[in-house]
Amino acid sequence: ARQALFQAQKMEAVGQLTGGIAHDFNNLLQAIGGSLELLERRLAAGRTDVGKYVAATRSSVERAAALTQRLLAFSRRQPLKPEAVDLNALVTGMRDLIDRSVGEAVEVALELGGGLWTARADANQLENALLNLAINARDAMPDGGRLTIATANVHVAPGDGNAELKAGDHVMLAVSDTGVGMPPDVLSRAFEPFFTTKPIGQGTGLGLSQLYGFVHQSDGHIRIDSEEGRGTTVTIWLPRGSGTAAERPEPCAVAPLPTA
Ligand code: ADP
Repeated sequence: ARQALFQAQKMEAVGQLTGGIAHDFNNLLQAIGGSLELLERRLAAGRTDVGKYVAATRSSVERAAALTQRLLAFSRRQPLKPEAVDLNALVTGMRDLIDRSVGEAVEVALELGGGLWTARADANQLENALLNLAINARDAMPDGGRLTIATANVHVAPGDGNAELKAGDHVMLAVSDTGVGMPPDVLSRAFEPFFTTKPIGQGTGLGLSQLYGFVHQSDGHIRIDSEEGRGTTVTIWLPRGSGTAAERPEPCAVAPLPTA
């Protein structure tokens, strides 16, 4: 069945993050304490063959350091520099990089809306986000498939807004794949920091949570639609950028409002 994850559903993410990290860190401290105790006993007994305990302690310390590094990288959010961004130009400019990142088995299709408004967002963050989404899509299509990147103007008339998308002008960016999709338990946790189903070293579980934070900070909206065995679409809506009328051609295409 088709599932959707809405913004309102997962604001406990930060609480889960602190709880999860504290738990893992505490486990490592206990391991370090245990190794040190054994080390002390050996030394007290006059033994010098303690390499095993020193190595175990060192390994736990290294893992704890890696944990705090990830936490730091996550919290060290750079201040956003919102500007008027032409998403079509951004997507087109990244086309080669995306092609190379997804590999030959994945066909990349662009469906760029005409007369697109500018979006107000941080261009660097948007580039990171798009690359992250493309790589997630590739990972979901190990046997190849199609990655579609779409943009559109979305106008929501006063009174027509909903909890997800408020009245006003938005610019939509949607990244779809024909991959494995997400089972409901993965979808419901997808925005959680450090949640990953990928092997260690391959996934950090930070891509979607960072995207969520970025979109939220930009006054935008994000939604994931996924169907197991069919594929996934991540859609973000950003506020329309400012600029003079001359810089903003009138919309040609206005996409329909999302339906729950
Ligand atoms: P990471 O990619 O490092 O695991 P993310 O936060 O980007 O971290 O994604 C979290 C999880 O959501 C992934 O491990 C994967 O299970 C799932 N996921 C993300 N994007 C997709 C996608 N396009 N198709 C299927 N599953 C996905």
